[in-house]
Amino acid sequence: MHELPVIDSILKIVLRHAVENNVSRVVAIHLQVGEMSDLEDIWMQQYFDHLSKGGIADGAVLKIERTPVVLKCSDCGMSYAVNIKETPSYECPGCGSDKNTMVSGREYFIKHLEAI
Ligand SMILES: [Zn+2]
Repeated sequence: MHELPVIDSILKIVLRHAVENNVSRVVAIHLQVGEMSDLEDIWMQQYFDHLSKGGIADGAVLKIERTPVVLKCSDCGMSYAVNIKETPSYECPGCGSDKNTMVSGREYFIKHLEAI
C-alpha cells in the first residue's frame, strides 16, 4: 500500500505540470526509482490507473527506470554502486569494510512526461 501516497504525489506533480504547459493529454510518465525502494512497478501502474481515471493523465503509461544503489564506505569514504540482485554483500571494494551509508537507492522522481 505504500505505493498509493507516492503515486498520489507523482500524479499531482504531473497534473500541475500538464496544466502549466497546456497539455491536453499525458501519454507516458518516465520515472526514475531507486533499486532499493520497495515500490513495485505493477502496483504503481495499478494505483496510477485508479487515481488518474477521468483526468488528462488517464491511460498514461508509467515507464520506470531503476537507479542503482550507491553506498559510501564509513571507513575509507569511497562511494560505490552495488547491484542488489547480484551482489549478496555490500563490502567496500576499496578496504573491505561493511560499514556504509546509502547515498542513493531509495529515491524516486519524475524524469519527463510525454504529452500531446
Ligand atoms: Zn572502504
